[in-house]
Amino acid sequence: VFSKDLKHDVSEEIDKANKDILKRGSKKRGAKVVRHKLVKNRLDVEIISDETVRAHDGFIRLKKFLAEQIGRKYKVGIKEAKVDEYKIMFKLDHEVKKKISIPFAESVKIDKRQCVLRLKDLDLKMLMENYVDRMIKLIQEKSIDYGGKAEHWKLIWQSKKKKIAWTRDPSLEMEKANWIIRGKGRGQWFFSIPATQIIQAMVQVVEKELLEALRFKEVIIPKMVTWDTWIKSGHAKGIYPEIYYVATPKTRDPDFWEEICDYFKITREVPIEKIKEKIDGPIGGITYAQCPPFWDSVEKKILAKDSIPLKVFDRSGTSMRYESGGIHGIERVDEFHRIEIIWIDTPEGVEKIRQDLVSRFRYIFDRVLDLEWRMADVTPWFLAQEGKKDGPEGNIGTIDFEGYLPYKGKREGDAWLEFQNVSNNGPKYPEAFSVKGQKDILWSGCSGIGLERWLAVFIAQKGMDPENWPSRFKRIVGKLEKPFKWV
Ligand code: ATP
Ligand code: ZN
Ligand code: MG
Repeated sequence: VFSKDLKHDVSEEIDKANKDILKRGSKKRGAKVVRHKLVKNRLDVEIISDETVRAHDGFIRLKKFLAEQIGRKYKVGIKEAKVDEYKIMFKLDHEVKKKISIPFAESVKIDKRQCVLRLKDLDLKMLMENYVDRMIKLIQEKSIDYGGKAEHWKLIWQSKKKKIAWTRDPSLEMEKANWIIRGKGRGQWFFSIPATQIIQAMVQVVEKELLEALRFKEVIIPKMVTWDTWIKSGHAKGIYPEIYYVATPKTRDPDFWEEICDYFKITREVPIEKIKEKIDGPIGGITYAQCPPFWDSVEKKILAKDSIPLKVFDRSGTSMRYESGGIHGIERVDEFHRIEIIWIDTPEGVEKIRQDLVSRFRYIFDRVLDLEWRMADVTPWFLAQEGKKDGPEGNIGTIDFEGYLPYKGKREGDAWLEFQNVSNNGPKYPEAFSVKGQKDILWSGCSGIGLERWLAVFIAQKGMDPENWPSRFKRIVGKLEKPFKWV
């Protein structure tokens, strides 16, 4: 739509555009205006294109071109530009049977691998900020997901069979003995004296045999994570069903909240619906993985040569995940304690540190805790948490450590629990958060030690009687304290 009526035809300009800018950069046909009609100040065009110059790119090029050409000649500007209808045909990488729908699409029709995506009333923002290509990519991703592709999992190492003390459910037994008490929140536990004593003994082993041995230093990472951080880390692509959301008061002013206080004083009920009207956000969520807030804290910094390798760990607070129906005892909890180890180094250095860690972990599980466990190559965690299922690439990847849970049945089956992982995350985080070396290319790695999971695996295999525990670990725990008794 032009700023005033056009007195002359624009066929000449359109021809020029078809021959030049709509083909530019294309080895094939590019884009082409196949029909146009001018009525007063309104020009309608129909563009057909191949994938080398997308129709929406063609449209934007045409708009700019006409603004220059016509603007110069006749002193008119372009007042508005929009697309009434956009039909995109492309081939899916995978055949899908399920219906796919995505935001902003009028319809998505799929026949075998042929997809027709229809869009209506697109404004300039949608066209210029490349919504269209992202919509095509999203449909491709969904076609893979809906195709039922499983996450990558490949066994790489398995320990010897170990002597198993019992085949009871560790959470149930510890609960009966008052070692652990169910918390009031979903998937939350109170760890009483003996359970805490064992966890702390495990932490001591990690400190001595791993963190001190490999010279990792402790830091405290923030635990409230804002959207901005999860946008950069990629978590914003997928973790919404699992977040514990954080909201803030619209104001700190007591008068604004007086009504809520009064309401409670009379009813003795917290008026949740009324509170919802008085809070902002969610502004983010509670830590899901410890790495993203670490990286955002060092964003855009250049790491000095003598700080490489950077080796730190965090155990300063809980992580929270709204887990699926499968929460069971302490094996899958909503609030959990994890020591997160993070390192930054050259690509070779990162891989070397990962191998050092794996060998220290092997020592701990074989010699100190005497566990039956195995390692598997899995989808790198940062891809999994973005909703992807790809396997490792070169050295970049995640190794899951899984412990055998005898109470769940035979070793051949599903009776294994991931109790920690070690990852080489490649250039992903330094790139996502613009962290650079003075000269060196930086990669990073991380490893998450889930303490509830360590306890669950240990008690599942060794039982609750220290008589059956490996002697080294028994010595580190010391005399096992009694839980308090309630009469
Ligand atoms: P799972 O497949 O069992 O849900 P995950 O792949 O989601 O585990 P990661 O995201 O890789 O786990 O997290 C790293 C570590 O954090 C895990 O190895 C585990 O020790 C711990 N962890 C993750 N989720 C939980 C949970 N819900 N309860 C206890 N520990 C957890
Ligand atoms: Zn991590
Ligand atoms: Mg999980």
